[in-house]
Amino acid sequence: MSVRVRFAPSPTGFVHIGSLRTALYNYLFAKKNNGSYILRIEDTDQSRLVGGAVENMLDILSWCGIEHNEGVVKKDDEIIQVGECGPYIQSERLGIYKKYIQELLEKGCAYYCFCSKERLEQVREEQLERHETPKYDGHCRDYSLEEAKERAEKGEPCVVRLRLPENKDIIFNDAVRGRVVVNTNDLDDQVLIKTDGFPTYHFAVVVDDYLMGITHVIRGEEWVISTPKHVYLYEAFGWQAPLFVHLPNILNSERKKLSKRQGDVAAADFKKKGYLPEGLINYLALVGWSPEDEQEIFKMEELIESFSIERVSKSGGIFDTDKLNWVNSHFIKEYDLDVLSKLSIPYLIEAGYMTEEETIEKIDWVKDLVSIIRERLSSLAEIKKEAAIFFNNEIKPENEEAKEMLRLAHIHELMNIFEEKVKNAETIDQNFGKILFKQIQKETGYKGKELYMPIRVFLTGEIHGPDMGMTLKLLGKEKILSRIQYVRDYLIKNQ
Ligand code: GLU
Repeated sequence: MSVRVRFAPSPTGFVHIGSLRTALYNYLFAKKNNGSYILRIEDTDQSRLVGGAVENMLDILSWCGIEHNEGVVKKDDEIIQVGECGPYIQSERLGIYKKYIQELLEKGCAYYCFCSKERLEQVREEQLERHETPKYDGHCRDYSLEEAKERAEKGEPCVVRLRLPENKDIIFNDAVRGRVVVNTNDLDDQVLIKTDGFPTYHFAVVVDDYLMGITHVIRGEEWVISTPKHVYLYEAFGWQAPLFVHLPNILNSERKKLSKRQGDVAAADFKKKGYLPEGLINYLALVGWSPEDEQEIFKMEELIESFSIERVSKSGGIFDTDKLNWVNSHFIKEYDLDVLSKLSIPYLIEAGYMTEEETIEKIDWVKDLVSIIRERLSSLAEIKKEAAIFFNNEIKPENEEAKEMLRLAHIHELMNIFEEKVKNAETIDQNFGKILFKQIQKETGYKGKELYMPIRVFLTGEIHGPDMGMTLKLLGKEKILSRIQYVRDYLIKNQ
């Protein structure tokens, strides 16, 4: 049987980084096994829908290169559905759920429940007072189907509940956690169809996974407690259940579930911060899964090749921003320079370093810039800080060591000769620096640290920095001269 997996998000807001990892693992598993990967939209909770959420989700997935081959897709800015098992949006499948709930009602595996909210609340309170776990008390369990059906058809508000047998062990094998056994006495008669006629997640997920031929359900561990109910539903229908794979949560450094309050959890935030999709995906793959060997940097094809459910860890994966930065910086170093430069432009504009119009004429300059600072970046947003030396014309020594450089006895001599050479230069290209330093060394006798460091400080204020030849080219004649003048004035003021 060929592998069929699905990612089944609810369009209730932003894409959580944990959901992105679930999508990724589904994708990797499908690809590895030449299977199909389906995207289904679970929008049965109509009160929680957020406009634009499906579009955002599809955009993020496609940005990450997690492409599904069946389900809801975006084509020419329109949402369409592709595949034989549609519709892939649950709100468009209400007729299907109606048919299957009928089957359960007739089999006696489900029943109508007419209890009002107030009654349910009262039962709950009483149970809590008695220190019992709140659950439905079975008040409507024993109405005859005909009687209940008649009441429902007359329009009496009602839900349909799962009729769980008493004291029955429900057993399933989770690929990550092993054998799970839950007794029905610890479970509630789950609502399957709500008063608004929509199915609950629990009912729709089972019907859809079955009808869509899903072989492996790979999802977050928050669903493991619901799985016994799902397993029972499969049994009630006489269907074979898929294999369940519950992924451990992504935890923060305090081993708590990653939550919005502790910083970024939305996949889009990482995109905004200038993480490359390759870096983010590579890193996410490693949160909760580990390869057989020590490899840490993976292209998508390599992830597909190496991925296996057996190596998904049981315990939660810790989200480690330093490691993400490290992985991402690797991809920044390797990226195609043209593409990386284009991706950097919005950050340069945001920093106020250039306007949108200027970026067209300055694209070669940007490429030079990116080529020398990329090795210092772990995300593109850091370009703002790393490129500051080219835009901040008020040169101030960054620290005591830099101040010391400006106090050297030969600082003025260096500034004068440097100024003169730059003034007389026709072009300042990358090579200019090399020749210039050689000449200054020859004429003054200064070399090594006593030559390079003070010059870097009076040009940028910093002790260390990117390649000097390229720094000079990027600054250009005018900026170099005005910086020298600025530092002279600064030295006079700070004597
Ligand atoms: N709609 C559920 C969610 O958004 C999917 C759970 C599942 O994969 O079964 O988390």
